[in-house]
Amino acid sequence: MVEGHLRPARAEVDLDAIADNAALLRRLVAPTALSAVVKADGYGHGAVPVALAALRGGATWLAVALVEEGIELRQAGIEAPVLVLGEPEPDAMAEAVAHRLTLTVYTAEGVDALITVAKQARATGGPASVVHLKVDTGMHRLGADPDEAVALAARLAEFAGDSGGGGGAGVLRLEGLWTHLAVADEPDNAYTADQLERFRLVRSRLAEAGVVPAVVHAANSAGALAHPGARLDKVRCGISVYGYPPNPALGPLVTQALGQPLRPALSLRSRVVLVRELDAQERLSYGLRYRLGERSVVATVPLGYADGVPRALSAAGGEVLIGGRRCRMAGTITMDYLMVDCGPDATVATGDDVVLLGRQGDEVISADDWAARLGTISYEVLTGMGARVPRVYVGGRAASVGGGSE
Ligand SMILES: *Cc1c(COP(=O)(O)O)cnc(C)c1O
Repeated sequence: MVEGHLRPARAEVDLDAIADNAALLRRLVAPTALSAVVKADGYGHGAVPVALAALRGGATWLAVALVEEGIELRQAGIEAPVLVLGEPEPDAMAEAVAHRLTLTVYTAEGVDALITVAKQARATGGPASVVHLKVDTGMHRLGADPDEAVALAARLAEFAGDSGGGGGAGVLRLEGLWTHLAVADEPDNAYTADQLERFRLVRSRLAEAGVVPAVVHAANSAGALAHPGARLDKVRCGISVYGYPPNPALGPLVTQALGQPLRPALSLRSRVVLVRELDAQERLSYGLRYRLGERSVVATVPLGYADGVPRALSAAGGEVLIGGRRCRMAGTITMDYLMVDCGPDATVATGDDVVLLGRQGDEVISADDWAARLGTISYEVLTGMGARVPRVYVGGRAASVGGGSE
């Protein structure tokens, strides 16, 4: 266990896995650029170390959901372009531009706010606003309707144009146009082609209006991997950079496309802190819901639902690895601890290594295993990793520690 972390529990992040996954993705899509999506603290892995590893692997862009997340990257000294995927609040635009974040807009209010910021930059010599316009082609979460998008683009282009008299040349640049796919992880679903066709129509209407953004993008991991026609100028890959296919059924297709499997970067590791041998019929944990069928060795592990091990996982048959064997979680998972039924003949001792996610010997437990038991997706498992679990980085040049007490 790493010094400075008093509880034997850590999320270990293999930065070489991140860099290698990024390199595989970049090689597959080249000459299309790779943007590594590091929102939600790098899907729970730690945004800054993951961003640096992905850039080392060949990503040339980063993407985040929030302005705050972009500022964190800039404060760490990261200079790569960072796209904020949601339109910032009007009040947040100036701060975002000051940190040289690339902004997404899709409302008239957003465009107005950005033009106001650009006018201030013209007066004060501040940095230029670089903007990507987002179009809703059918997911209906965020983005301008296709008709509105053309008007918004024209408004931005007119302000930014040298000849349009907008006066915004040099302080505002409409660099990109993008959309988001709703069902790209279902390769046979024709809706993706419909979305891409709607997107193509918007592009051609913009071109007729003389607006040709340099960076056009649509694909998330599933789009990049399963729909070559969606790759365009860059792909925005999140889950695949962390080593998981967008859904488990896509695993074989992903491995085939990349020529080798993705490597999950995160493992969740702990140690046994207490071992008891209990009689048959003894019951465990809150609610006494788990009853031992025979005399058994029960181990206590210092991770609980406050650390991101979902309370529902034990009743759903969740397992951990101890001594290279799969052992059942037993009884209700508590806030800080969980218990494991190691069986009658187990030779388990205090201090033994426990793997909740990751490999031990020949056995592996993945975020997709948890997700299948819990009726969710690997994304939710990874981003649910608790803030109080120290992230420990291995591989790369960064044998260092983030979060926790340091
Ligand atoms: C989160 C997100 C992505 C990344 O999706 P993955 O499936 O993790 O690759 C891409 N684009 C947008 C707009 C997103 O919100």
